[in-house]
This record gives sequence, structure tokens and C-alpha cells, in this order.
Amino acid sequence: MAEPQRIALVTGANRGIGLEVCRQLAECGLRVVLTARDPQAGQTATAELTRAGHDVTFCPLDVTDPAAAEAARAFVAERFGHLDVLVNNAAVYLDDDVSIFDVPLSDFAATLAANLYGPLHLCRAFVPDMRRRGYGRVVNVSSESGQLRSMGGYNGAYAISKTALNALTRVVAAEAGPAVKVNAVCPGWVRTDMGGPHASRSVAQGAAGIVWLATLPDSGPSGGFFRDGQPLDW
Ligand code: NAP
Repeated sequence: MAEPQRIALVTGANRGIGLEVCRQLAECGLRVVLTARDPQAGQTATAELTRAGHDVTFCPLDVTDPAAAEAARAFVAERFGHLDVLVNNAAVYLDDDVSIFDVPLSDFAATLAANLYGPLHLCRAFVPDMRRRGYGRVVNVSSESGQLRSMGGYNGAYAISKTALNALTRVVAAEAGPAVKVNAVCPGWVRTDMGGPHASRSVAQGAAGIVWLATLPDSGPSGGFFRDGQPLDW
């Protein structure tokens, strides 16, 4: 029997790695829900992919707002019936080169709101139904900044948010059931607004490891942390 067409939702997808993940998933034949907190930027990005012949639909989503995550769940349920793939990509990096002693608490809280609570809201909105239906792929876009093994200073809010996202990955994987593969991934240092122009990787290279986890076969891993398809230390 032919594989059903899978439905994927990507957060923070109006630019950078998220936009490229949407493009690659669509090229793999998935129906993609491109989400962004800025509706105009999201619609422009969606139109770009649609013009290229891809099956992409826009849904507004500020990941820090649990009501917006619930609205996205309702939108997907109404349009497509269910979700197969969730890519938690949206993030902020507000404390590059800032000491943990100086980072404003408001920036620390805003970092956790987007990078940790955002994925939490989306997992709560979508993973229980994936578990019930017996299929799901969740990819949490993390960073080697979150590795405890090599944890350094001068970006503590971002680094701690990604360590916490890795922990969330383990907890959700443990509760999602064996048919739902939940993994964290580091895209490497990528040329985006966040990574800057001197980063070593293109968005296509950064997105490839995310798309690999988003399209894992049933025999694939869950509860892991990867870069370029290889396990990373926590
Ligand atoms: P980016 O170019 O800065 O893009 C970040 C995206 O997240 C933008 O679309 C932004 O939307 C969105 N976003 C931020 N807060 C949001 C919110 N509250 N709700 C919805 N969307 C929100 O970053 P990137 O380089 O593509 O990074 C993508 C992922 O890779 C992130 O998780 C990042 O931590 C990770 N990563 C990147 C690198 C790298 O070198 N680039 C390295 C390691 C990990 P707006 O346009 O509205 O701001």
C-alpha cells in the first residue's frame, strides 16, 4: 500500500533554517504548514514556496502563546484532520557574548518563553493525538550550545534554554509512545540572521539533518540528540 501523504508543521519558518526545512519537506512530498509570528512575513514566505510549486499553507503562530498553539492545532485539525510531523524550529538568541551576571532577567525569560516553553506548548497541542493515531515525528531544533559536556559562558540564557529543550526532548520521547519519534538536533553553524554571514554552513546543509529526523522510518531512533545524522553527547 502507498504511504499516506504526511502533514508537517514548522515553527519560525518565515526565514532562515525554518523556511529551508519547509522547502525540503515539501520537496520530499509532504504537505507543509509554514508558521510565523509575523503574518505578513509568513504569507510572503508561503507565497515564495507556493510559486515554486510546493504544497504549503500558512498559519500564524507565536510560539510563546499557548492559545496560539491551540489555535494552530484547531487549524490543522480543520484543514488536514491531523498532524504527522512537528518541527520546533523557532528560537531567539538575545545574549550573544553577554555575561550571566548582566543579562537582563526580561531577556532570560523571553529566551525561555520562545526556546523552551514554545516547543512545550506545541508538543502539548500535537503529541497526544500523534500517540493516539500511532504515528508522529517531533524534531526539536537545539544547539551544541546546550551540550552540558562543553557548556561555556557568555550566552547563558540561550545555552540553558537549549539544555532544557534537550531535557524536554527526553521527557516527551518517554511519554509519546514507541510510534512517535522525538529527537533533538543541532543544525551546525549556519548562515542565517542568527548564525551570521561567516558561518560555515548553508541553510540547505543546516536543514538536512532536521529533515532526516522529520522523515525517519519506523525503525528510527527516539529520545536522541544528533548532528548530520550522528549522535551527539548531551
Ligand atoms: P533565525 O534566522 O534568527 O530565525 C529564527 C526564526 O524564529 C525567525 O523566523 C523568527 O521569526 C522565529 N521566531 C523567533 N521567536 C518566535 C516566536 N515567539 N514565535 C514564532 N517564531 C519566532 O534563526 P536560524 O538560524 O534560522 O535558527 C533556527 C533554529 O536553529 C533555532 O532553533 C536556532 O536556535 C537553531 N540553531 C541555529 C544555528 C545557526 O548557526 N544559525 C546554530 C545552532 C542552532 P521573526 O522573523 O518574526 O523574528
